[in-house]
Amino acid sequence: MVLAQLGGSISHALQQMSNATIIDEKVLSDCLNEISRALLQADVQYKMVHDMQSNIKRIVNFDDLAAGHNKLGIIQQVDFIQQAIFNELCKMLDPGKPSFTPKKGKTSVIMFVGLQGSGKTTTCTQYAYYHQRKGWKPALVCVDTFRAFCQLKQNATKAKIPFYGRYTESDPVKIVAEGVERFKKENCDLIIVDTSGRHKQEAALFEEMRQVSEATKPDLVIFVMDGSIGQAAFDQAQAFKQSVAVGAVIVTKMDGHAKGGGALSAVAATKSPVIFIGTGEHMDEFEVFDVKPFVSHLLGMGDWFGFTPRHMYEQFQNILKMGCIDQVRSMLPGFSAKLRPNDHEKESQAKIKRYITMMDSMTDAELDSTSTKLINEARIRQIAWASGQHVRDVMDMFEEYERLANIWSKMKGLKIPKKGEMSAL
Ligand code: GDP
Repeated sequence: MVLAQLGGSISHALQQMSNATIIDEKVLSDCLNEISRALLQADVQYKMVHDMQSNIKRIVNFDDLAAGHNKLGIIQQVDFIQQAIFNELCKMLDPGKPSFTPKKGKTSVIMFVGLQGSGKTTTCTQYAYYHQRKGWKPALVCVDTFRAFCQLKQNATKAKIPFYGRYTESDPVKIVAEGVERFKKENCDLIIVDTSGRHKQEAALFEEMRQVSEATKPDLVIFVMDGSIGQAAFDQAQAFKQSVAVGAVIVTKMDGHAKGGGALSAVAATKSPVIFIGTGEHMDEFEVFDVKPFVSHLLGMGDWFGFTPRHMYEQFQNILKMGCIDQVRSMLPGFSAKLRPNDHEKESQAKIKRYITMMDSMTDAELDSTSTKLINEARIRQIAWASGQHVRDVMDMFEEYERLANIWSKMKGLKIPKKGEMSAL
């Protein structure tokens, strides 16, 4: 099951739960079973899924849940359970301690390990290039065979990154010692060692890795894993961890049909964080890995921890305060399809006021939740009735919200402005 399908299955399970008239142990169990099935199909390891189930069941208090019989109570409960699932998945990806972080200007040796075909050589160059663009002085040392030697040399030359390798020398320890020595003398601050990869987890490969590690005393060993290897991820990662002190993980090929679950398993097996993901073969198809957006994506809820109806409410209040909508349009990303440029100023203002009135009829829980999927038809009718608007207008308002939330979720790292902060955008 690929990431998008996993998100769909989890959303479906939560949706089913929100349709229940009461959330009791059975309803929660059914929901968690469906989510667990989806996670297992996405290659998350069985034990992790089982632990997640138990943890969620432990924190959900059924006496409290029973108190919220009505639909709104259920929305809040589903939100709470959603948040618990989100937190559990984040926990799975967070080994609790950050990896070694190299410092610019101070020499660090970073050793890359992984099976042949995992994307290790590609990743070494991407890692070097990523840092080079940020003003570091990286260098590449190739311990591997003729194939990797040529590939790495070609990549290094293209990116103008110093390279060391000798395909006529058969002793990998000698090559790596010479390479690291040379680049230390040249004051490179990031010496990247690409070790051998073999098809299988052969004893000889691990022995060689241990020797290279002994000779270079790396500050960090990065395990490179093909994101699409499925359930095998846990065993493979563990085998590497047992041979060398893996301190971080990079998951490659996340652009393809990767089943995100492998990343979770690798973290569990190595007790090391994922620090980057590879999203293609090109030098710049390489991203810093951030747990929360990843889990949010895994759950198919890109906007989950981001933009809520309350943010939209506050933005609209700001806009009305600032007066001129055309002026604001350029300052607020995503603003606004429904409030089209050819709308008259007055019409736009009236629409925003109507949206605000409708949102005044929403509860705090609804305003602070991004799961608008949980606001069903009956609730939309209630909001329309309470705010004196048409059902169609309420649906328009939610469409506008979802569109804006979607835009915000794509703007990674962009801070959602708080009240009165919009001029800082
Ligand atoms: P190594 O044997 O582990 O050094 O792996 P390589 O770096 O040679 O990569 C194996 C193959 O995977 C090559 O064809 C790469 O171009 C390709 N590759 C590596 N990383 C990615 C990635 O993130 N996405 C995709 N689609 N292909 C990748």
